[in-house]
Parts: sequence; C-alpha cells; structure tokens
Amino acid sequence: MSKICVVEDESSIAEMVRLNLEMESHDVTLVQDGAEALELFKRNFDFDLVILDVMLPNVSGVDLCRLIRKKSNVPILFLSAKGTTSDRIEGLKAGGSDYLPKPFDLEELLLRVAVLLNMTPKAGEEIITIGNCQVNFRTFVVVDTISKQETTLSKKEVALLQLFYSKQGEVISRTEILDKVWGKDQFPTTRTIDNFILHFRKIFEDNPKEPVYFISVRGVGYKFLN
Ligand code: CA
Repeated sequence: MSKICVVEDESSIAEMVRLNLEMESHDVTLVQDGAEALELFKRNFDFDLVILDVMLPNVSGVDLCRLIRKKSNVPILFLSAKGTTSDRIEGLKAGGSDYLPKPFDLEELLLRVAVLLNMTPKAGEEIITIGNCQVNFRTFVVVDTISKQETTLSKKEVALLQLFYSKQGEVISRTEILDKVWGKDQFPTTRTIDNFILHFRKIFEDNPKEPVYFISVRGVGYKFLN
C-alpha cells in the first residue's frame, strides 16, 4: 500500500482514478484545486507518488511539480489533455517522472503507477517459467508454451505469484499472504486465497487435482515448488 496524492479538477476523472487506486489498496488523497494542493504540499509531504493534472484552477500542475521537487524526489505522474510534445517536455523539465496524455486507458495508468512505485520486478525478472508456462510480470500474461493458450492474470494474482516465486520451497501462511498481497486494511476471507490457488492450479498444473507447483500445507497455507 502506498500513499498517493491525486490532483485533478475534473471530478469524473478524479473519482475514477481514486476508486481504482483504492481498489489496488492504496491510500489516496484527492485534491481538486491547484492552490489547495499547494497549501497541502507546503504543510507536510509524505506521499509515495503524486499524480498531477496540468491544467488546474489557480496553480498549474507544472508549478506544483516544481514546488514538490524542492523538497522531494517522489515520483510524479502528469495527466493532461495537453498531449503535445512541448507540453510533455515542459512537464518532464519541471521534474515530472512520467506523462500520460488524456484520454488515457485506466489499465495503462495503473501499470505506470505500479512501475513508478517500483512494484514491478526489475529487468531480468520479468519473465519466469513455471512448468510449461511462461509468466510475464510486466504484461501479466501467462502463455502455455505447448497449447499456446494465453491467460491474463489480475494484479492481485500477479502479486501473489511474485510472493510465491520469491519464497520458493518455503511454507507461506495464509496470514502472511493476506498481509503482503491484500494489505492490513482489507479483510478478504482465507477462502479468497484458496480460490486464487485453484485458479493458479488450473493454469499451471498438468493435473490440478494433483498439484506439483502449488502445494497445500494443511492448517497453515501454501508452498510453491518450481
Ligand atoms: Ca484539468
């Protein structure tokens, strides 16, 4: 979970972005006016990421970016209807980390946020192999190299798979999974995890009823072998 500040005056976009980031377990502060954002950033600044619209009432996103850069190296993602090259350059020159022209694809926004927050794996770890399947942690696509069948994983599934992959051979408790994948503020039932595992087995196991990769450890959780 990360603390994200969204500065966007168009209510429909602001609410959509907020809702989707919250669904990804982020803590979102929404500000819809440039001057208000300026006051907020002057007071205290402890965000992990800032999403800035460029055209804002009273103080522009670019000016806000310059202010933030005086005190922080936090990743800043610009959102703007002004998608021309010169606007992009202005945003990046002011210290922006990335720039997404409107209208944008929500999935692209979430992926860029994930990259900026460094939640995606480093280069070289993007594609892993489990059995016959190749998993691309950047595109979330799993390809069965024999049947050529493709499956797209959800963000949570990727997060869970990354957790398993990082702890191969270790028993991971349901509590740890809930904590690391869902965060402390969300309370899915342990049944949710079991359903994720059932789905993984359908994708990766030759015989989902006799799993060799995603092993249940009775009363505790799961173990991933590869
Ligand atoms: Ca605007």
